[in-house]
Amino acid sequence: MSKASEIAQDLVSRIRSVTRRQDGAINLSEPSFNDRARALVDQCITTAWVSTEGEFVIKFEKLLEEITGSPKVVATMNGTAALHLALIAAGVKPGDEVITTPLTFVATANAIAHAGGVPHFVDVEERTLGICPEKLLPYLKEAFTSKDGKLINKKTGRQAKVLLPMHVFGHPCKIEELVTIARDFNLRVVEDAAEALGSTFNGKHLGTFGDIGTLSFNGNKIVTTGGGGAILFRNSNLGQKAKHLSTTAKVPHAYKYFHDEIGYNYRLPNLNAALGVAQLEQLGELLRKKRKLAQSYVNGFEDFSFGTIFTTPDFKESNHWLNTLILNPEFCEYRDEIISICHAEGVRLRPVWDLMTELPMFRDCPSADISTAKKISLRIINLPSSSFLGN
Ligand SMILES: *Cc1c(COP(=O)(O)O)cnc(C)c1O
Repeated sequence: MSKASEIAQDLVSRIRSVTRRQDGAINLSEPSFNDRARALVDQCITTAWVSTEGEFVIKFEKLLEEITGSPKVVATMNGTAALHLALIAAGVKPGDEVITTPLTFVATANAIAHAGGVPHFVDVEERTLGICPEKLLPYLKEAFTSKDGKLINKKTGRQAKVLLPMHVFGHPCKIEELVTIARDFNLRVVEDAAEALGSTFNGKHLGTFGDIGTLSFNGNKIVTTGGGGAILFRNSNLGQKAKHLSTTAKVPHAYKYFHDEIGYNYRLPNLNAALGVAQLEQLGELLRKKRKLAQSYVNGFEDFSFGTIFTTPDFKESNHWLNTLILNPEFCEYRDEIISICHAEGVRLRPVWDLMTELPMFRDCPSADISTAKKISLRIINLPSSSFLGN
């Protein structure tokens, strides 16, 4: 038997045992709906309140404010739109640089480009998979200079306005250190917490440490609205402005169409919000199951010879959106072969995203040394993580 198939067979049997599914396909991340979801969506259809206005959008935002502790939440049609508006609200203008991680889903970098910005990639750390504060600080000192309170890239002459960290797979990155560094360098912080609904750090919800945070409710996330997103504002006035921008900048009036700037059609439809309300009511239960599944993976892989289950120091505070196996470095060359053998057996594992610096449209963007991101990304395999598997 080849090394890859030896590892794959061991993986399949451990995953089937942890998830107690001896046969059939096991997908990466699937949603769970209850009868309440069906009833609320049905209510939208019956009342014909399916579009950009309606009680469920408001209710959904209120629930998110309660869950996250954010003073102002604005629901959007997806997480990418949330990031785009967040960056505009943070003051990103065409030509500005946004300092971010290469180890993320493409939406993070796309949103920067949608705002006219240029992503500037910095390295991550193995411990959390998020931006490494110990590397960020010396890099900012070396690659940038301060002019009239502006942080200017010495090479490109462009201003960096925002630091955009991402909480990978729902695990908190070193957000407090990152926010402190950003303050010292006069950078705003926009947190991509798309994967982190229900995750906290020292009891505070992720996405509320920086100036603005964003969430996603795509079908594979812990809670879904079909497609959806939300922006968490520390400053309610800024949130109010973003909501205005997200609704075509229409000035409220009973029947007149007056728009006072170029807006976006980014509002979350009421139909999607209805699903979201039912899902948020289930959040506690979903989180319990996710945590149970994560613990079962840790136990089930204790004596696994080819890698370790990724855990962070803040295990109890993560939503455990996606469970992760870190292959030992000597086996990472077999990663893709392992994954395809597992797929053939019905166990649908996934590698992590290709780094943003590998994608044609971001290849030439400014970048620090990102050797840790390059090394660790080749070792990551995501394991089936649907909450019902933790039942
Ligand atoms: C899911 C996700 C988003 C947003 O994606 P949408 O599909 O637009 O909701 C953004 N960033 C990260 C890291 C994500 O995982």
